[in-house]
Amino acid sequence: MPPKGRVVVSEIYCKGCELCVNACPQSVLGLDHEHLTAKGYHPAVLIAEGCTGCGICAVVCPDAAITVYRIRTGATRELD
Ligand code: SF4
Ligand code: SF4
Repeated sequence: MPPKGRVVVSEIYCKGCELCVNACPQSVLGLDHEHLTAKGYHPAVLIAEGCTGCGICAVVCPDAAITVYRIRTGATRELD
């Protein structure tokens, strides 16, 4: 099973250019057409399950608007 991730888009910086949307190999990013940022852009949002936390969206974003968090799996450990 691929690792899972979560992305947070900073609306202060996002300008809705869609570079991240087009770069995501899982096609789980889209623009939120129901919402405008304070600057008047439709921001990028996660639109589906399946983010692997690969970080490509954060790398391609020219405005450093995306932070990617990887969700650790199998992180439990036995206690003595
Ligand atoms: S690449 Fe960055 S600025 Fe462009 S839509 Fe994605 S988060 Fe917003
Ligand atoms: S971290 Fe990877 S899979 Fe997740 S939204 Fe960004 S590009 Fe897509």
